[in-house]
Amino acid sequence: MEETIYCGSCKQQQPFEIQEKIFKNGMKHIQANCMVCGRFLKYIKQEKPIEEMVMFYGKYKGTKLIDIPIEYLSWLKDNCKPNLEEKVGEVLNIIS
Ligand SMILES: [Zn+2]
Repeated sequence: MEETIYCGSCKQQQPFEIQEKIFKNGMKHIQANCMVCGRFLKYIKQEKPIEEMVMFYGKYKGTKLIDIPIEYLSWLKDNCKPNLEEKVGEVLNIIS
């Protein structure tokens, strides 16, 4: 079964093609483009195993999230952006 996403240009669900984009912060994103008109549709959240996620800024930059001390993760969870907060929460669930 082919996956589809609603395309604003075609005004209907269309199959899409994907393209990898690496952001400045090192995060990899999958970009979906309409296969019919080529329009950029959205970024697809890439599901990477939480065990492999690496901290991309701060004191523990370059360290795997699961290797960061719980104290720091707890602090981070309250002081970071919402999208990261979710991940940090997951890691805390795993290691604590
Ligand atoms: Zn389209």
